[in-house]
Amino acid sequence: MIIVMAPGHTPEERARVEETIRSHGYRVVPIVGELRTVIAAVGDGDKDVLYQCESFPGVESAMRVLTPYKFVAKVPGRLRTVINVANTVIGEGTLRVIAGPCSVETEEGYLRIAKAVKEAGADLLRGGAFKPRTSPYSFQGLGEEGLRILARVGKELGLGVVTEVMSRDTVELVASYADILQIGARNMHNFALLKEVGRCEKPVFLKRGIAATIEEFLMAAEYIVSAGNPNVILCERGIRTFETATRFTLDINAVAVLKKRSHLPVFVDPSHATGHWELVAPAAKAAVAAGADGLMIEVHDDPASAVSDGIQSLLPHRFAALMHELRGKESAG
Ligand code: PEP
Ligand code: MN
Repeated sequence: MIIVMAPGHTPEERARVEETIRSHGYRVVPIVGELRTVIAAVGDGDKDVLYQCESFPGVESAMRVLTPYKFVAKVPGRLRTVINVANTVIGEGTLRVIAGPCSVETEEGYLRIAKAVKEAGADLLRGGAFKPRTSPYSFQGLGEEGLRILARVGKELGLGVVTEVMSRDTVELVASYADILQIGARNMHNFALLKEVGRCEKPVFLKRGIAATIEEFLMAAEYIVSAGNPNVILCERGIRTFETATRFTLDINAVAVLKKRSHLPVFVDPSHATGHWELVAPAAKAAVAAGADGLMIEVHDDPASAVSDGIQSLLPHRFAALMHELRGKESAG
């Protein structure tokens, strides 16, 4: 059950709602977003509380949420989540693009690529410092040194940075350098990690697991939001199917389904979804056409020598051409 507080409600009005919910046997979980405060009543208490709260001053609407994901469900009266991060607004209608190499390799190299993607109009930088590799013998990332490079370059260029956190014990460390914490596809089911980033102040970029249903994906987001962090960005990055022509299969349906079922912003990663640079532009355009709020794209200026995912990385000039096309479409409405 959720109670949506009206804009401009007073602390007393909110306290009255919370007290009433509590006295009917529910746990109270307030979610204070950029635009709205929502009070969630979690548990199996007396349903009459809904009707009581609906008429209280300061309350905009009250409703039961029948989906298993209560916090992330799109319900009438609940505005879409808008996230303000590092001078960028995500989810308010303008396409946002996160770009950069798969991994942070060297400071000079990262700075060069970051300058190029900034020049092309990227809003945020990406780069892995802790890499989830299929083989334990593959490059595992620079660790904290990679985080330092990310933060230094991000600061120098005035862009926020997105990077993956792979374990609970490094959440604090990664959060001290990054603007947005990425949970990779392989960790979407790591519930302990989801709870930990749910207790963190930084927004979370949650990638869909390679074999996760849309409902499982939304339940993973629910873990984060119900632990107290309302700022979650969902990212469709391709799922595993019988098809072998591409690295994964971009589930374009998921974009429309997620936008319909959830108020959270939805991004698409056409780089991992396709696994090949030539397919990145068409997949990116399809994502935008389907209603994505943003894209995450891998870019490298020497893909042949990239330590990871060179084949799917765009050269800077190709990224710039794609950005030009995407932004052109956007301004044409
Ligand atoms: C990545 O973004 O570098 C990455 C490893 O993505 P995914 O978790 O989607 O495979
Ligand atoms: Mn990658």
